[in-house]
Amino acid sequence: MTIDFSRFYRHDELSALLHDLVRDHPDRLRIDSMGKSHEGRDIWVLTLTRFATGAAEHKPALWVDGNIHAAELLASTAVLYFLDHLLRHDESDARVRHLLDTRAFYLVPRLCPDGAELALSDRPRHIRSSTRAYPFEDAPLDGMVIEDIDGDGRILSMRIADPNGGWKPHPEDSRLMIPREPGEIGGQYYRMLPEGRVLQHDGVGFKLNPDREGLDLNRNFPSDWRQEYKQQGAGPYPTSEPEVRAMVDFVVRHPNIGAAVSFHTHSGVILRPMGTEPDEKMIPEDLWMYKRLSAAASEQTGYPALSIWHDFKYHPQQVISGTQDWIYEHLGALFWVVELWAPNRAAGIDKYPFIDWYREHPPEDDLKLLKWSDEVCGGEAHVSWKAYEHPQLGPVEIGGWDRMNFWRNPPAALREAEVARFPGWLKQLAAILPRLELVELSVQCLGQADGPIHPTGARHYLIRFAVENSGYLPSYVSRRALERKTVRGLIFECFPKCEEATHSLAALGAADPIDEGSYHPQMRPYLRFLSGTQRAEGPSLEGHAAKQSLQAFLPDRGICAHRHLHQWQVAALPGTRLEVIARSERAGLIRSELCLD
Ligand SMILES: [Zn+2]
Repeated sequence: MTIDFSRFYRHDELSALLHDLVRDHPDRLRIDSMGKSHEGRDIWVLTLTRFATGAAEHKPALWVDGNIHAAELLASTAVLYFLDHLLRHDESDARVRHLLDTRAFYLVPRLCPDGAELALSDRPRHIRSSTRAYPFEDAPLDGMVIEDIDGDGRILSMRIADPNGGWKPHPEDSRLMIPREPGEIGGQYYRMLPEGRVLQHDGVGFKLNPDREGLDLNRNFPSDWRQEYKQQGAGPYPTSEPEVRAMVDFVVRHPNIGAAVSFHTHSGVILRPMGTEPDEKMIPEDLWMYKRLSAAASEQTGYPALSIWHDFKYHPQQVISGTQDWIYEHLGALFWVVELWAPNRAAGIDKYPFIDWYREHPPEDDLKLLKWSDEVCGGEAHVSWKAYEHPQLGPVEIGGWDRMNFWRNPPAALREAEVARFPGWLKQLAAILPRLELVELSVQCLGQADGPIHPTGARHYLIRFAVENSGYLPSYVSRRALERKTVRGLIFECFPKCEEATHSLAALGAADPIDEGSYHPQMRPYLRFLSGTQRAEGPSLEGHAAKQSLQAFLPDRGICAHRHLHQWQVAALPGTRLEVIARSERAGLIRSELCLD
């Protein structure tokens, strides 16, 4: 099964491709539908881990999704590329092998299949996300509807000669439109409009209609959700949209997800929380961790790593909230947004203010982009102006920047190289997750159990069950998780290995199936806890991340906090078999058996 990373797959092709991959790797890969989109398409989630070394839900997990925004198709490619990388290198790369043995990956290549399908249709439209009409059902009766009017499969700009227009051709290259200077007169000016059709044109002016599909699925998450008037595309209530509900439900049902990455386009940056508050309000230990891991991300991918709040606000007085807030701020798992692809950087514009550049930038930047379009993109990233007889507006010219095919996503030849930046960093994220490992499981007989409460022949035993966190991150992953109480300490359990007997006792209506006075030897093994309880909560475990330098004022007092010994004293009959479990929401599960002699 070979995936062509230079092309974008339509839903049916993507579904077939994913099922083929699962058929080729049944020991490692599983596919499930997380739910149905608004139009009824399956939202696929792939579970990747070596099933022979344990169930996915018993291992720490990394979540990677893409394409929640309809036209950000390269985001799907990035997820597919990572999936393919892990499958392809499982045999040859010891690190990948280790990850598939000890970690799980939940991969969702396309969160918004309906919007992506529209972007890939024969007459494509690039809407924000879902195809559901929102906030109102009504189709517009008047005004301009943005669409491909000349049928060339792309939506460009229209320029119309107008003495009061705000734009003029660049003196060095008349294809390039630049803003008219304040107070400037005497030139050839143009009015710039998006390509589209005008309904009920009165011959004078018109409004520009927003897309009827006005949802932004990334504004529909439960954390810091705000109504439409504060946050465009929010939906009527948090998780009102089936695509978001499917993801939220899946993540909530998989508390083993300790880190997550969502791929978007474009800007060529890696964004970290928080989105709704400044760094000063962030828990310092989490901020330090985030900064360290973001710097590593930047080094491995070549993308700058930024804070959403400090460096990536669309408007300085507006905050937006989405996946990043929900996964970090609510759940306390680590989360990054990747905005893939920066045409500016491809054109040699290295230092630019990420968001502000789109509001205003020097014409020299546009000349560089034009050169890039001519030399690398066959003159297609900026399309030369072509006369067109517009049905409502009369003679216009259609052309300009093709943002659909060169901004939202890179041209076909550049796609694979762009997504190939990411497997290294994503593997690192999976590798740093906390993971429980067994240190010691032993049993020592302390002698005969005396007194009339025990059956004849019962003995006292001491069970030692020691585990450690072999990961870099603590078992709780972030302090935020502790603050929000989304994780507990380690849970230790011990019970007799005799399920049928326990069932039969339950059927008899016994209140406590383990420790009771009415022991009956035919029913199940005798087990009485003398110290410790059948289920107990222990501490959280630290990871091996260095907390401070070796020159720090005081030594790190938590140097052995990555290990814990849990002990039980029980009375039981020799030959009793016990099952012991240590588990943590985010660090996995250890299950073992022992026999009391
Ligand atoms: Zn996006």
